[in-house]
Amino acid sequence: MDVHRRLLSDDPSYAHARDDIENMTLLYQEGRGMAGRAGVTRIPVVVHVVWNTPAQNISDEQIASQITVLNRDFRRANPDVETTPAPFLPFTADARVEFALATLDPHGAATTGIERRQTSVASFGADDAVKSQASGGLDAWPAASWLNIWVCQLGGGLLGYAQFPGGPDETDGVVILQSAFGTTGTAAPPFHLGRTATHEVGHWLNLNHIWGDDGTGCTGTDNVDDTPNQGGPNTGQPPFPQLSCNNGPHGDMFMNYMDYVDDPAMFMFTAGQVTRMQACLDGPRAAIGSGGGAGTLAPHNSSSPVVAWGANRLDIFVIGTDHALYHKAWDGAAWQPSVTGYEAQGGICLSAPQAVAWGPERLDIFVTGNDSALYHKWWNGSAWGPSVDGFESLGGLCVGDPRAVSWGPNRLDVFVVGTDRALYHKWWNGTAWGPSLTGYEAMGGVCLGQPEVVSWGENRLDVFVIGADHALYHKWWDGAAWGPSLTGYERLGGVCLSSPRAVSWGPDRLDVFVTGADGALYHKAWDGAAWLPSADGFERLGGVCVGEVEAVAWAANRLDVFVIGTDSALYHKAWNGAAWLPSADGYERLGGLCTSRPRVVSWGPDRLDVFVLGTNGALFHKAWDGGAWQPGVDGFEELGGVVSCF
Ligand SMILES: [Zn+2]
Repeated sequence: MDVHRRLLSDDPSYAHARDDIENMTLLYQEGRGMAGRAGVTRIPVVVHVVWNTPAQNISDEQIASQITVLNRDFRRANPDVETTPAPFLPFTADARVEFALATLDPHGAATTGIERRQTSVASFGADDAVKSQASGGLDAWPAASWLNIWVCQLGGGLLGYAQFPGGPDETDGVVILQSAFGTTGTAAPPFHLGRTATHEVGHWLNLNHIWGDDGTGCTGTDNVDDTPNQGGPNTGQPPFPQLSCNNGPHGDMFMNYMDYVDDPAMFMFTAGQVTRMQACLDGPRAAIGSGGGAGTLAPHNSSSPVVAWGANRLDIFVIGTDHALYHKAWDGAAWQPSVTGYEAQGGICLSAPQAVAWGPERLDIFVTGNDSALYHKWWNGSAWGPSVDGFESLGGLCVGDPRAVSWGPNRLDVFVVGTDRALYHKWWNGTAWGPSLTGYEAMGGVCLGQPEVVSWGENRLDVFVIGADHALYHKWWDGAAWGPSLTGYERLGGVCLSSPRAVSWGPDRLDVFVTGADGALYHKAWDGAAWLPSADGFERLGGVCVGEVEAVAWAANRLDVFVIGTDSALYHKAWNGAAWLPSADGYERLGGLCTSRPRVVSWGPDRLDVFVLGTNGALFHKAWDGGAWQPGVDGFEELGGVVSCF
């Protein structure tokens, strides 16, 4: 709590950010927030072990024991929760958060999720020195994607400290005394059950101390409705009840993780505390972990010329009039290399570029060359492969745009339509291309336009194509085999004039959009058990659309769909979980004179970035920031270039 107070007094922007977060949390507590993460969020963890004496260089086993404790405590799976005094037992709740040591580092390389260094610093304080290489510690990994835990020697009787959401990225995370970490090795009673980390991660997820941090007074609050008013902190292993602030007969909820009692005496979060933590995961920490947010949805999306590998990050690829590939990026603060500038990346490209990001700082781009072969290049976090303007040839004779998806780290699946109009597939398994560098798996069919592919889970693929009869067709990879067969397809009806656009907002959920023969937008969905409205039926969503459809999902049960109208303006509609907005067949007009299909990406909840080409061939951008369209409902930001294919 000392650190929290210091940040509030030192940094006005932090105090402002904390106010915003508190206001958003209040909306959730009143039931007015949108739950972006319905299920369990799994958070990647990096443990930075900073040791002075060899004994402080704690073992991998001690670290694993701490991860186990976090997973029990944040899932209400800790056996001692059953010893909660009867009056408080009904308040105990599953926080729906799990933790796993990271498998990828910020450069996309494999990692154990554990970093170690020896330091000359005998003992650290609460001044964040342990969070910087320069001051004897280890640097943080990007807070948008990892929970940083530093384990070190701490002085002054300090067991640990945390940074609340809304603070500086470089110091985000929690610090734990090595002898209060995990349940084995150097862990020493009475702080030997891993509860210091549970308490500090509670702060990291925006929980306050249960007594309200007003000393021993009765006026402070933890901003949680189902915890009793309490005077000051409890310590040791007190008997039940402990009365303060006229809170009898049951008294203080001292067995809550957010009090100061010994490890064996704390074993519960309340439902109200879970609401605060989930509001944090839908708000300031929306990018982290699986179960929602851009970090999860992005890797499952089908490829696009615009991608986001992290919060507030955009990469855009276009083909110039010289048919070379060009790239620009938003780094969170500015466009690179400039607002209207582009990085030249070579090649002679006949298709729109298709990019996917399977991890932070990782990009894979696919294009069709002038010899109709498929070409690939990649960004590994520090350099372009095979070179800035070079490409890896992947063979084939392709018609139109390729389509790619990644269902997990270092995994790529690419689909192309061949000159015989059949569908072809190849994949990167982390070490090699299958079935071979330039070979393809033949998947049958007669395809019109571009194929579509999405993945709603590990080792799962759903592929959609339009057949020669203009109906929608579907096939899927279930981890073991192609359904309905390697070269067979499930017919889903319709008379489609556009390529299919599919998105998945959750496991075993698919939403597919096409335009029909009347120019209207049509939709069908797989709900895990059946196609809606029927196997060959579609929901009509109105409009008179020109060209291809764009759709994204930034949260569970949320869809945003974009089309170009006959007046060349951009139009938008959204599904909010209960209804289509502005109406079942209505659209929000977003202006512009668009000469390309819209390309849209979302890097976080309630965030949309839209890109189109204008009549001058330049790229134009607009964004929904959660409250308004920027630079205006019908305005666009011009991003330069003369683009031939996007
Ligand atoms: Zn605390």
